[in-house]
Amino acid sequence: MLQKTKTYRSVTLKLVPTPKQARIIDRNFLRVNKFLNISEREFQKLIRNKAKEDNELHEAHTRLLALLAQRFTKTAMSNLLYPLDKGNYCFIRENNWYKVEIRFEPRMPVRINIDRSNNKYYSDIINGTAYPAFIYKYGSDYFLSTAIPIEKKWEERRLAVFIGIDLNMRKHVASLYNSLTNKFEVNIFFDLKPIDEKIKEIQRKIFMIQKGKRSSQLTEEEKQQLSKEYRRIRKIIEKGHGDFISKLLKVADSYWEQGYNVVFVLEDLKGITKNVRKDYKSFNRWLHSQWCYRRFGILLEVKPYLVKYVDSRNTSKMCHRCNSEVKIYGKHKRLISCDKCGLRDFSRDLNAARNIVKRIVDSFDVGGRET
Ligand SMILES: [Zn+2]
Repeated sequence: MLQKTKTYRSVTLKLVPTPKQARIIDRNFLRVNKFLNISEREFQKLIRNKAKEDNELHEAHTRLLALLAQRFTKTAMSNLLYPLDKGNYCFIRENNWYKVEIRFEPRMPVRINIDRSNNKYYSDIINGTAYPAFIYKYGSDYFLSTAIPIEKKWEERRLAVFIGIDLNMRKHVASLYNSLTNKFEVNIFFDLKPIDEKIKEIQRKIFMIQKGKRSSQLTEEEKQQLSKEYRRIRKIIEKGHGDFISKLLKVADSYWEQGYNVVFVLEDLKGITKNVRKDYKSFNRWLHSQWCYRRFGILLEVKPYLVKYVDSRNTSKMCHRCNSEVKIYGKHKRLISCDKCGLRDFSRDLNAARNIVKRIVDSFDVGGRET
């Protein structure tokens, strides 16, 4: 049976306390801090006493326990933090604005605004919920960190449509297969040229900083500049992933509305190096890196539809109609033809996306249930 595996999404929210609220939070940080100081001492006392009376408690174990005591208390202390669960906080919506209501004192709830500018998690907040969380201070800013479970949309009685996804260096392509009509009904293309151009520009900068130097020859400042540029590349790729996923979700949502279950299908990680040649520029290495591919999977998995992974072998070499080997040709080798079934001038990426779908459809019966 297809399992609705529970997925969690980590969420960090910036809080915007008033000066008065900030003072209340700070006061409570110190309370926790003080308690941790005491507990470390108590913890160590306890360990020493235990070690004395217990012959089986080996010296190494004593040392281990001491380290644990230190680790638990010191790690928490290096950051000012305050733990939360449904017993002392919840999210509330007030005047169209999400707030977190924290009861530092039983009868005195504090309602703190959550920053909604530039906050990709804002839409994940659900009124009245309270998952285990903690607030912490970083510099002079306050944050709330939690993990929100993701509900997958899936109904047993429904038929499924499958959306196979092929991530490629020029285009990302997806194709939707409907098991009821036995047809590929929607193709989704996502052009990477704008992303490619942005990354190339950053790569020119990276090239200027490196100037053929080895990493040991770079100054601290240059290293920092480099990591900043690499971070920009990662951001651009993630933004691209996000835009492509939005397109996919629009299609998925419309099929869900029509009464179908939706399953996204991706190649497993083994397939991602299939097109990498040594002469490829680093942009392509980025797009074919495990990081990039895995990142796409993670971003898709937190969305409300199932994501399945299939064996990626030969998805770009086989004909999706008849499974024979295809001929690859055309500019940049983006077209295929099949002598056996007569498929001509067909997009190689679309063919791959459809092969990915076929791999999963074979393992489901018509009702979309896994066999
Ligand atoms: Zn064929």
